[in-house]
Amino acid sequence: MDREVMEYDVVIVGGGPSGLSAAIRLKQLAAEQGHDVSVCVIEKGAEIGAHILSGAVLEPRSLNELIPDWKDKGAPLNTPAKEDHFLLLTAGGSIRLPTPPQMNNHGNYIISLGNFVRWLGQQAEALGVEIYPGFAAAEVLYDEQGAVKGVATGDMGIGKDGQPTANFSRGVELHGKQTMFAEGCRGSLTKGLFEKFNLRSDSDPQTFGIGIKELWEIDPAKHSQGKITHTIGWPMDSGTYGGSFLYHLENNQVAVGFVIGLDYDNPHLSPFEEFQRFKQHPAIRPTFEGGRRVAYGARAINEGGFQSIPKLTFPGGCLIGCTAGFLNVPKIKGTHTAMKSGMTAAEAIYPRLKAGDAAGAEIAEYPAALKKTWLWDELYSVRNIRPSFHRGMWAGLAYSAIDTYLFRGKAPWTFHHKPDHLSLKKASEAPKIAYPKPDGVVSFDRLSSVFLSATNHEENQPAHLTLKNKDVPISTNLALYDAPEQRYCPAGVYEIVRDSDGSNARLQINAQNCVHCKTCDIKDPTQNIHWVVPEGGGGPNYPNM
Ligand SMILES: Cc1cc2nc3c(=O)[nH]c(=O)nc-3n(C[C@H](O)[C@H](O)[C@H](O)COP(=O)(O)OP(=O)(O)OC[C@H]3O[C@@H](n4cnc5c(N)ncnc54)[C@H](O)[C@@H]3O)c2cc1C
Ligand code: SF4
Repeated sequence: MDREVMEYDVVIVGGGPSGLSAAIRLKQLAAEQGHDVSVCVIEKGAEIGAHILSGAVLEPRSLNELIPDWKDKGAPLNTPAKEDHFLLLTAGGSIRLPTPPQMNNHGNYIISLGNFVRWLGQQAEALGVEIYPGFAAAEVLYDEQGAVKGVATGDMGIGKDGQPTANFSRGVELHGKQTMFAEGCRGSLTKGLFEKFNLRSDSDPQTFGIGIKELWEIDPAKHSQGKITHTIGWPMDSGTYGGSFLYHLENNQVAVGFVIGLDYDNPHLSPFEEFQRFKQHPAIRPTFEGGRRVAYGARAINEGGFQSIPKLTFPGGCLIGCTAGFLNVPKIKGTHTAMKSGMTAAEAIYPRLKAGDAAGAEIAEYPAALKKTWLWDELYSVRNIRPSFHRGMWAGLAYSAIDTYLFRGKAPWTFHHKPDHLSLKKASEAPKIAYPKPDGVVSFDRLSSVFLSATNHEENQPAHLTLKNKDVPISTNLALYDAPEQRYCPAGVYEIVRDSDGSNARLQINAQNCVHCKTCDIKDPTQNIHWVVPEGGGGPNYPNM
């Protein structure tokens, strides 16, 4: 059965901050010049924002450039940042440290990024952008010359056995003169583009963290709207990169999360359980006692920075936002840079659309223009900070101070990265970690947590967690690393099950629980796990994360 084809000037894959900013900028430019461009955005979440998980403190720089009258247009930026706290936690205490300049949030806003992108989606639609939530781009399409000509959404109604069910409907082809990939961190189609066009040959490997987040409603007496706290130290040992955030939003809500660098080396480490025990710390627990946890989720976050930025263009398309990797790690902020990259790409593509020579072209004007923006300078100046933590927290803190205050980001060297999946030690060479049991008051188990992510997948579909070799989970992962996927997956998707006598160990994949964080695709030691999009609309349904 042939697929239906829909033609656009520009197809954008992903309705996050970068994709929607690009769409808005294209429409603004066309309107300014009395010209029309057709732009569509496809989003795998059931609605715009459903798969968005962030902190989030928004630096409004790009928003000011994109929609200067955002206040009049009702943008959900309701909580100006008020006070910054930076704490070093020890096992039983905490020490307040001076806030590093990158973490000074004066002028920023505490937001729900999910709600912000819902608003951006409305602005885009008002300008005439066609937005299709509930459609996952499953395949990149190429023309005869090998240029990208669009994407195809996945077929719906394929059963577990790979055969069409009664609900079968063929995917749709979306053709664009240009296709912009805005899939966010570890984009699944972007991963294929890296290989197809060799986009990473001149950059460091991308590196990542996993961020696990909860949204709480707390006792109003303990709430301080606009308060921002970041912690480092306990429960991480000094060799493991990680820290927390607590952001006091409106309506007595607190967003609390923990980010752990995926270059951790102990296969016994469980990011989920580290986060749960972090909330037991005497400096943290009182905030949540008497409160109610209302949402849970997890998402990978880029940590490679400037030296990991790949080639951004190829014939017929480009990469924008976190799928390329523009996050400023010391700031823990990637929204303003994701938006800026989308806007800059749109500004480079638009004249070519107008001139009529955009189809299948490689728009080299985009990276050239990006290099002249504040984004490039910003990422360059902090490029050595995250890799300086490869030698541990104390070395990282000391180097970061020197780099920031003495060299001011202009040191004549650049530190490099190694891929995260190579960092695990053998289970026998790493200390086991005994995690406390959840108390059901401030700490919880995985399943009750996943419940709060409102994750849902059609059960009768092929697993979207695919294994290149089905023997590796037992012969390598279990044998050498004690099956670390059981611990790094924040949703309990991977389980080693055995017969009643303990024999016949095998990997069970509970794919319907997957919150699309992409950690398994990153951290699997032999890169045997390949995450592909499930049926569109499946996955978490985050309310306001
Ligand atoms: C725990 C955590 C805390 C953070 N805190 C902050 C913060 O405080 N401030 C800040 O500025 N930044 C923060 N960030 C980073 C910020 O969230 C990202 O930089 C930003 O969301 C990137 O925007 P994006 O548009 O590139 O990608 P995303 O926001 O990830 O959006 C990508 C969209 O594309 C969709 N998609 C992906 N693949 C497909 C496909 N194949 N087909 C269809 N749709 C697809 C996804 O569902 C998603 O909606 C944080 C990130 C994390 C994980
Ligand atoms: S299966 Fe993979 S992508 Fe899904 S929640 Fe677990 S680690 Fe994240």
